[in-house]
Amino acid sequence: MVYSGKVLERIMENCIFCKISRHEVESEVVAEDETTIVFKDIHPKAQTHWLVVPKKHIHSVSAVAEDEWGLVLDMVKKAASVAKRSGLIGYKLVFNVGRDGGQVVDHVHLHLLAGGKMELP
Ligand code: 5GP
Ligand code: ZN
Repeated sequence: MVYSGKVLERIMENCIFCKISRHEVESEVVAEDETTIVFKDIHPKAQTHWLVVPKKHIHSVSAVAEDEWGLVLDMVKKAASVAKRSGLIGYKLVFNVGRDGGQVVDHVHLHLLAGGKMELP
Protein backbone atom coordinates (compact mmCIF):
# COMPACT_ATOMS: atom_id res chain seq x y z
CA MET A 1 0.00 0.00 0.00
CA VAL A 2 1.33 3.48 -0.86
CA TYR A 3 -0.17 6.29 1.21
CA SER A 4 0.08 10.05 0.81
CA GLY A 5 -1.26 13.35 2.16
CA LYS A 6 -3.37 13.39 5.34
CA VAL A 7 -3.62 9.61 5.51
CA LEU A 8 0.19 9.27 5.51
CA GLU A 9 0.44 12.05 8.13
CA ARG A 10 -1.95 10.18 10.42
CA ILE A 11 -0.08 6.91 9.93
CA MET A 12 3.24 8.62 10.75
CA GLU A 13 1.76 10.16 13.90
CA ASN A 14 0.86 6.71 15.21
CA CYS A 15 3.60 4.52 13.73
CA ILE A 16 5.91 3.16 16.46
CA PHE A 17 9.05 3.30 14.26
CA CYS A 18 8.25 6.88 13.15
CA LYS A 19 7.90 7.77 16.84
CA ILE A 20 11.26 6.14 17.61
CA SER A 21 12.85 8.00 14.64
CA ARG A 22 11.50 11.27 16.02
CA HIS A 23 12.74 10.31 19.52
CA GLU A 24 9.19 10.52 20.87
CA VAL A 25 9.49 6.92 22.05
CA GLU A 26 12.67 5.75 23.77
CA SER A 27 14.92 3.15 22.22
CA GLU A 28 18.52 2.04 22.61
CA VAL A 29 20.06 3.75 19.61
CA VAL A 30 23.09 2.05 18.05
CA ALA A 31 23.62 4.50 15.18
CA GLU A 32 21.79 7.37 13.55
CA ASP A 33 22.13 9.82 10.69
CA GLU A 34 19.73 12.07 8.74
CA THR A 35 18.04 9.23 6.89
CA THR A 36 18.32 6.13 9.07
CA ILE A 37 18.20 5.01 12.69
CA VAL A 38 19.54 1.71 14.07
CA PHE A 39 18.25 0.61 17.46
CA LYS A 40 18.06 -2.51 19.61
CA ASP A 41 15.02 -4.73 19.18
CA ILE A 42 12.89 -4.67 22.34
CA HIS A 43 12.41 -8.48 22.18
CA PRO A 44 15.79 -9.77 20.94
CA LYS A 45 15.74 -13.08 19.05
CA ALA A 46 19.57 -13.37 19.14
CA GLN A 47 22.44 -12.05 21.31
CA THR A 48 22.60 -9.04 19.02
CA HIS A 49 19.31 -8.00 17.44
CA TRP A 50 19.14 -4.55 15.92
CA LEU A 51 16.64 -2.92 13.59
CA VAL A 52 17.76 -0.71 10.72
CA VAL A 53 14.94 1.73 10.01
CA PRO A 54 14.67 4.52 7.43
CA LYS A 55 13.22 7.72 8.88
CA LYS A 56 10.93 7.97 5.88
CA HIS A 57 7.72 6.01 6.46
CA ILE A 58 7.47 3.22 3.90
CA HIS A 59 4.98 0.50 4.70
CA SER A 60 6.98 -2.54 3.63
CA VAL A 61 9.45 -3.85 1.05
CA SER A 62 6.36 -4.68 -1.02
CA ALA A 63 5.41 -0.97 -1.04
CA VAL A 64 8.77 0.53 -2.05
CA ALA A 65 8.29 2.99 -4.93
CA GLU A 66 10.65 3.01 -7.92
CA ASP A 67 12.50 6.09 -6.63
CA GLU A 68 12.86 4.66 -3.09
CA TRP A 69 15.02 1.60 -3.79
CA GLY A 70 18.12 3.67 -3.01
CA LEU A 71 16.87 3.94 0.58
CA VAL A 72 16.64 0.16 0.81
CA LEU A 73 20.18 -0.26 -0.52
CA ASP A 74 21.25 2.34 2.03
CA MET A 75 19.69 0.27 4.84
CA VAL A 76 21.77 -2.76 3.81
CA LYS A 77 24.93 -0.62 3.56
CA LYS A 78 24.29 0.88 6.99
CA ALA A 79 23.68 -2.56 8.50
CA ALA A 80 27.01 -3.78 7.07
CA SER A 81 28.85 -0.69 8.26
CA VAL A 82 27.45 -0.74 11.81
CA ALA A 83 28.17 -4.49 12.01
CA LYS A 84 31.77 -3.92 10.93
CA ARG A 85 32.25 -1.08 13.40
CA SER A 86 30.83 -3.25 16.18
CA GLY A 87 33.15 -6.16 15.35
CA LEU A 88 30.39 -8.53 14.24
CA ILE A 89 31.87 -11.16 11.97
CA GLY A 90 28.81 -13.19 10.99
CA TYR A 91 25.22 -12.05 11.01
CA LYS A 92 21.87 -12.38 9.34
CA LEU A 93 19.97 -9.59 7.61
CA VAL A 94 16.24 -10.23 7.39
CA PHE A 95 13.32 -8.36 5.85
CA ASN A 96 9.94 -9.70 6.92
CA VAL A 97 7.40 -8.77 4.27
CA GLY A 98 3.66 -8.83 4.91
CA ARG A 99 1.79 -10.75 7.62
CA ASP A 100 2.57 -14.11 6.01
CA GLY A 101 6.24 -13.09 6.00
CA GLY A 102 6.13 -12.32 9.73
CA GLN A 103 5.93 -8.52 9.42
CA VAL A 104 4.17 -7.03 12.44
CA VAL A 105 5.34 -3.40 12.31
CA ASP A 106 4.20 -1.70 9.10
CA HIS A 107 7.24 0.53 8.65
CA VAL A 108 9.97 -1.06 6.57
CA HIS A 109 12.88 -2.37 8.67
CA LEU A 110 15.87 -4.65 8.36
CA HIS A 111 16.65 -7.08 11.19
CA LEU A 112 20.35 -7.53 11.98
CA LEU A 113 20.90 -10.68 14.06
CA ALA A 114 24.16 -12.04 15.38
CA GLY A 115 25.55 -14.39 18.01
CA GLY A 116 24.19 -17.30 19.95
CA LYS A 117 21.48 -19.53 18.62
CA MET A 118 19.63 -17.45 16.07
CA GLU A 119 15.95 -17.87 15.39
CA LEU A 120 14.64 -16.01 12.39
CA PRO A 121 12.08 -13.47 13.63
P1 5GP B 1 8.62 -7.56 12.32
O1 5GP B 1 8.02 -8.80 12.91
O2 5GP B 1 7.58 -6.52 11.98
O3 5GP B 1 9.56 -7.85 11.19
O4 5GP B 1 9.55 -6.98 13.45
C1 5GP B 1 9.21 -5.94 14.29
C2 5GP B 1 10.22 -5.96 15.41
O5 5GP B 1 10.08 -4.75 16.10
C3 5GP B 1 9.99 -7.10 16.42
O6 5GP B 1 11.16 -7.92 16.48
C4 5GP B 1 9.71 -6.37 17.73
O7 5GP B 1 10.30 -7.00 18.85
C5 5GP B 1 10.29 -4.97 17.48
N1 5GP B 1 9.59 -3.91 18.17
C6 5GP B 1 8.24 -3.69 18.19
N2 5GP B 1 7.94 -2.61 18.91
C7 5GP B 1 9.14 -2.11 19.35
C8 5GP B 1 9.47 -0.98 20.16
O8 5GP B 1 8.63 -0.21 20.61
N3 5GP B 1 10.79 -0.77 20.39
C9 5GP B 1 11.77 -1.60 19.91
N4 5GP B 1 13.04 -1.31 20.22
N5 5GP B 1 11.47 -2.68 19.15
C10 5GP B 1 10.17 -2.93 18.87
ZN1 ZN C 1 6.48 4.82 10.27
